[in-house]
Amino acid sequence: MRVVVASANAGKLRELDALLRPLGWDLVPQQRLGVEPAPETGTTFAENALIKARHAARAARLPALADDSGIEVDALGGRPGVWSARYAGEQATDRENLEKLLAALQGVPPERRTARYRCVMAYVRDAADPSPILGAGCWEGRIGTVPRGKGGFGYDPIFLPQDGNRTAAELEPAEKSAVSHRALALSSLRSQLGR
Ligand code: IMP
Repeated sequence: MRVVVASANAGKLRELDALLRPLGWDLVPQQRLGVEPAPETGTTFAENALIKARHAARAARLPALADDSGIEVDALGGRPGVWSARYAGEQATDRENLEKLLAALQGVPPERRTARYRCVMAYVRDAADPSPILGAGCWEGRIGTVPRGKGGFGYDPIFLPQDGNRTAAELEPAEKSAVSHRALALSSLRSQLGR
């Protein structure tokens, strides 16, 4: 089944493809179909995921999948949260966002550096689908002090999952895909789809 994916983030697309290939889904990035990204005007992960999925389904005339995700840091009152991709500015790179987060946490002791990744995944059969399917996932951990590892993307080099001492960027792709917020959101979505 061809499904348009409302993301241009190469890291996310790689992870989603690995998670959905076993279902026989042929994921087509919206960019390849000439679909421009939707403005993320929501204030929750669920709103943004649904906005992105409906927009892609309408433009591509295909079923659509979108995720909205981010990192919540307790010492910062849950920020950057839904603004994780734009934390250091609209066009910020992963590295700039990560550096800004490390600077914001300078001097904060390890026990107060707790954080979690959140992801909400939305699937719509078409743009007017009255019963979209939403799946949520959460991955607990804390923020390290020095970036480590070359895998993953975004904040992974400074995210230390609660089990173990490696950063998310030091995990093998298959290890991350087994436990991540995105994997959990997708597994909830899959069980609702009956797959
Ligand atoms: P979105 O495209 O608005 O959902 O932005 C999600 C942002 O959250 C990404 O650009 C990253 O900064 C961050 N993020 C979400 N999931 C992950 C992950 O698995 N690893 C690292 N960063 C992530």
